[in-house]
Amino acid sequence: MRLKEKKISKLKVVIIGGGIGGAATAVALKNQGIHADLYEQAPVIKEVGAGIGMRPPTVKFFKDWGIYNEIERKSEKSSFMQILTSTGEVLINEEWPLLTNNPEDRWARLIHRADLIDIFFNQLPSESIHLNHKCDSIIDYGDHAEIHFDNGNSVVADLVIAADGIRSTVRSKLFSNVEPVYSHTHAYRAVVEEKETFNLAPDNTFKVFVDGETGNHVYFMPLHHRKQVSFDVTVSSADASWRPEVEKKDILQCLENFDSKIQKIAEKIDNYTCRSIYDIDPLERWHSDCITLLGDAAHAMLHHQGQGANSAIQDGGVLAESIRDAATIPEALQIYQARRKPITDKYQELSRRPPKVEAKTAFPEKSVFETP
Ligand SMILES: Cc1cc2nc3c(=O)[nH]c(=O)nc-3n(C[C@H](O)[C@H](O)[C@H](O)COP(=O)(O)OP(=O)(O)OC[C@H]3O[C@@H](n4cnc5c(N)ncnc54)[C@H](O)[C@@H]3O)c2cc1C
Repeated sequence: MRLKEKKISKLKVVIIGGGIGGAATAVALKNQGIHADLYEQAPVIKEVGAGIGMRPPTVKFFKDWGIYNEIERKSEKSSFMQILTSTGEVLINEEWPLLTNNPEDRWARLIHRADLIDIFFNQLPSESIHLNHKCDSIIDYGDHAEIHFDNGNSVVADLVIAADGIRSTVRSKLFSNVEPVYSHTHAYRAVVEEKETFNLAPDNTFKVFVDGETGNHVYFMPLHHRKQVSFDVTVSSADASWRPEVEKKDILQCLENFDSKIQKIAEKIDNYTCRSIYDIDPLERWHSDCITLLGDAAHAMLHHQGQGANSAIQDGGVLAESIRDAATIPEALQIYQARRKPITDKYQELSRRPPKVEAKTAFPEKSVFETP
């Protein structure tokens, strides 16, 4: 027997975290007639200025949720990815892999993170969004949970979805104290005006320039609909501080083997978002009977396969479908983990492979996930 419709509409669902995973999940639940309250620690919803590639299994959910037209308007279809040397010699030019049963689906949609999160939040009733709420403790009573926030408020819920990122409070309090693993790399990200990119992004090809000597690389993601390009530098670094203080001269030094045009682009940027890059090892379990992890909280992965945000969105879609299909919340959480975890475990492993000049494919995921 399924969770009856009346029961579904009366469920008290709380989402902790208003990043891409939490926001997408609120939209997915709304699409199943489930109201969720979303609690975010920050005073405003703000996303890093950077592009991400939305993949067909993710876009399928956007169609289900009725937001595809808007996504299409605010994104760009890319058909190819290239791996190039740091000086611009093309080593690999490859179509995006086929991850669905539709042979036409060899593409990604390139979108600015802020546009994506805006589209999600525009779907949600404003009274369901609670900013300035940092969850600091959670008590699991088996069939319900009590969540406490640092502003003194607390709420009770039948289901808590912890989408609170790689340093998840909920994960550390309830499931395991898995520590994030430092990748010994930093990412420096910015969005630049297309006209200042020396025609390095003339079409919708997603490019990765790789320095064979240092392993440093530069992602070039065109966002033509915005007349912009997302520019993402990934470099080796021993400094493990989460938000490293990095000066522009340090960034330029990391790029000294790169094409002078790339150096000039980097030189012109004033505001980089600088982050140390961490992931976690796969967890054994994501959920209790009334609390579950989702997105980076459950399976933070490195960015080399471009799958972290995609996975978080797909988690939200699958979780909402599992609640729709199950007889109880514990059963729904079991179905959700069984459907999602084998995939994200694999992506966590694959994502530890950075792009390399000697690589045979731009998409190591092909060997595991490409539809035959
Ligand atoms: C350089 C780089 C490039 C990337 N490129 C891609 C790409 O191309 N494609 C892709 O799919 N993915 C990409 N990713 C990965 C992607 O950014 C993440 O996987 C994704 O943002 C995870 O979303 P999330 O909602 O799970 O977590 P987050 O985005 O971390 O959101 C967590 C939210 O929870 C809030 N929060 C945290 N703790 C609490 C608390 N205690 N109480 C209340 N709120 C809390 C935070 O403020 C935040 O808003 C990239 C990552 C990096 C670093």
